[in-house]
Amino acid sequence: MGSQEVSTVDWQGKHVTVAGLGVSGIPAARALHERGALVTVVNDGDDERARAQAAELEALGITVRLGDGATLPPSTELVVTAPGWQPDKPLFLAAAEAGVPVWGDVELAWRLRGDNGKKAAPWLAVTGTNGKTTTVRMLASILEAAGLRTAAVGNIGVSLLDAVLGDTEYDVLAVELSSYQLHWAPSLRAHSATVLNLAPDHLDWHGSMEAYAADKGRVYEGNTVACVYNVADPATEDLVREADVEEGCRAIGFTLGAPGPSQLGVVDGILVDRAFVANRQKQAQELAEVSDVNPPAPHNIANALAAAALARAFGVEPAAVRDGLRAFRPDAHRIEHVADIGEVAYVDDSKATNTHATEASLAAYDSIVWIAGGLAKGATFDELVTGAAKRLRGVVLMGADRALIHEALTRHAPEVPVVDLDRTDTGAMSEAVARAAELARPGDTVLLAPACASMDMFTNYNKRGEAFADAVRARADESA
Ligand code: ADP
Repeated sequence: MGSQEVSTVDWQGKHVTVAGLGVSGIPAARALHERGALVTVVNDGDDERARAQAAELEALGITVRLGDGATLPPSTELVVTAPGWQPDKPLFLAAAEAGVPVWGDVELAWRLRGDNGKKAAPWLAVTGTNGKTTTVRMLASILEAAGLRTAAVGNIGVSLLDAVLGDTEYDVLAVELSSYQLHWAPSLRAHSATVLNLAPDHLDWHGSMEAYAADKGRVYEGNTVACVYNVADPATEDLVREADVEEGCRAIGFTLGAPGPSQLGVVDGILVDRAFVANRQKQAQELAEVSDVNPPAPHNIANALAAAALARAFGVEPAAVRDGLRAFRPDAHRIEHVADIGEVAYVDDSKATNTHATEASLAAYDSIVWIAGGLAKGATFDELVTGAAKRLRGVVLMGADRALIHEALTRHAPEVPVVDLDRTDTGAMSEAVARAAELARPGDTVLLAPACASMDMFTNYNKRGEAFADAVRARADESA
């Protein structure tokens, strides 16, 4: 089948098992039921919420089995799973044994696109360990600036199934994909795609770094126009090389340095394109200025270049790249400037929940008082601390696994003052900010970039970022 053609499945009477009630399971069950499939939803949990959801589906004629997500219902011809379900679950082993295919939410959306008579918009896909949401939103902003009907969808919190089956017609979709979603999306064929970077994450789910990388690399399979890779991260280029793509599809690199032919990069503060130009051996096309990127931190310029590469692969004009980047506003808690107090900048990067993201944000400032700690999720901090040691004015640590960071600091940056906060109550963040303010000198940046998950002290990274911003604003008000 040609990669961008729409596949048609005859759903009438097909026995489909939907694994997991939830944000993807319920719409999937409904969509399949509406198309005539005989749907059984299986779910591990059997709590009050699940029962209420089950009752709604049962009222439509959908079978729901609560409290047993492990057994494959007999006669199942297809399993549609929530992306987070781990591949070694007994349900999937049973499916493999019975030769029953397993699709995730993304695969289902891919297969259903166009079946309601709507134009099937091509997908520009973004994955990677960090920067996905930012890049997808930059990409959507650029596509909009080009006058295209588009939306940022997928792992970003907007259901692909809704986008594909809803009434709105799109010219192109900017799609964020997680490694889980890619794992369960065997026939997805994007127009063009990028793996932004690859660092160890979610290895408990995938089983190994190789398996994680292979799932990320699936995003390149069957690309028609461009596979966009990160020149600074050769593992991403390896994935392009291993992918089976459509004839004529090109490998396009992005780099923070001067670009070679078939690359986008930076020359004298200008983002330039040496890939989608008439004579790439000799010519480069100016796209935007570094100062058009918001914020212009190195990792974010890389995100902008990746977004620009995908947009250019889709035929977007240079001026729209510039306008789209200028119009883009980062989501909250991602290197968000909260306030300046006494010539010290306070920056909230609560979304830096792993060491790879924190490495990027520490690289964006020259002299930093770093607030870190939380749940380490099995990470080690030696490399992170070694790389940042010279730029650390001081460190304030909090949270369950702070000792791990403290030990790394003792080993690699013994001269850097460390405040170790042994409290987890609601006032802890205020004290962290106060102690950071004591350490800071004019010109410094106080940076919340925890390198850890937040759930030991906060509901999620948003709440952690809000606690930081509240504490900073309270200080700003006091000093005003
Ligand atoms: P994702 O959707 O992949 O989680 P986000 O755009 O939400 O990515 O950014 C998550 C965190 O990763 C942010 O805290 C940011 O500092 C960091 N980050 C963003 N882009 C990159 C990048 N290209 N490389 C490394 N870290 C990045």
